[in-house]
Amino acid sequence: MDVLGNYKSVISARSADKDIQKKAQDGGIVTTLFAYALEEGIIDGAIVAGPSDEPWKPKPMVVTTKEELLAAAGTRYTISPNLQLIKEATRSYGLDRVGIVGTPCQVQATRKCQLYPIGMRDVDDKIALVLGIYCMENLSYQALEAIVEDHCNQKMESVKKMDIGKGKFTVYTERGAVSQMPLKYIHKYVQPGCHVCLDYVANLADISTGSVGSPDGWSTVFVRSNKGNAVWDGAMAAGLFETKDMADVKPGLDLVKKLATEKITKNQKHVDERKSFGLKSDGTPKALRNPYETP
Ligand SMILES: Cc1cc2nc3c(=O)[nH]c(=O)nc-3n(C[C@H](O)[C@H](O)[C@H](O)COP(=O)(O)OP(=O)(O)OC[C@H]3O[C@@H](n4cnc5c(N)ncnc54)[C@H](O)[C@@H]3O)c2cc1C
Ligand code: SF4
Repeated sequence: MDVLGNYKSVISARSADKDIQKKAQDGGIVTTLFAYALEEGIIDGAIVAGPSDEPWKPKPMVVTTKEELLAAAGTRYTISPNLQLIKEATRSYGLDRVGIVGTPCQVQATRKCQLYPIGMRDVDDKIALVLGIYCMENLSYQALEAIVEDHCNQKMESVKKMDIGKGKFTVYTERGAVSQMPLKYIHKYVQPGCHVCLDYVANLADISTGSVGSPDGWSTVFVRSNKGNAVWDGAMAAGLFETKDMADVKPGLDLVKKLATEKITKNQKHVDERKSFGLKSDGTPKALRNPYETP
């Protein structure tokens, strides 16, 4: 399969809504699409990574209004177990049409819940819109704290925005300071589970998006499924996005493809190395589990 997955169209876009532009990480694609889907009754709630009591620690939550979506906008570079709520959303929250946003692994988990619903009765047909965000790697909260406080010398509570791009982890504070750490130092902080991940651009989402490929403040958007296509066309017809032809923007799709290829090649090597990680007493290789193969 292509490293970018199957898609019907790829566009560079940003939200036309100024409030969303201010709060969003990149082009505000996720917040705008969920707000539109809520308004149109395509979904009746969305599972997002909302704010919690600790600065920059996400808390999975079910939101049903644009205000709540805005409060959850932006990237929190640490694990937010959004899937935790996927069953509950259809139970105590009473949703019949669930929207969910997640990293590629979370999109995979969502699809797996739909196809192999172990302990997930009556969930699959209630998943109405799956939005994916690109992801190269993720960090534990402690790792994020170490990067922000030790490497970038900023207090977590003083940070307004964090961003990864152009080879740097950048922290913007409320008082206007900008601190950076070269990404080459991030390696030891990466979640070990991310080293076997073979998806960069959320191949299984209805629509997936990330910053790479597009100019600052814009997003690269893959419209993948029929459902994604219908939602995207509806949002475009409602005038919710400004768009540019992907072929006209810099650095463009080639960079997305390059990074996806690098991630998959590097991580495929890790998956392969697990086959001969240890030694049995008879001297033959002892494998660690490979989640992509039947044991
Ligand atoms: C760990 C991580 C690594 C990433 N790496 C890349 C990358 O390498 N290249 C790239 O182009 N983009 C990457 N992204 C995606 C990028 O940072 C933006 O999330 C994406 O472009 C969407 O921006 P937006 O303006 O459309 O979304 P917004 O409108 O700002 O909405 C973002 C949505 O994502 C949800 N969210 C925030 N943090 C998390 C989280 N940790 N887990 C699940 N959901 C979350 C929010 O609740 C919100 O609903 C990464 C994101 C994460 C979380
Ligand atoms: S790198 Fe893969 S496993 Fe790690 S958080 Fe991102 S999508 Fe999930």
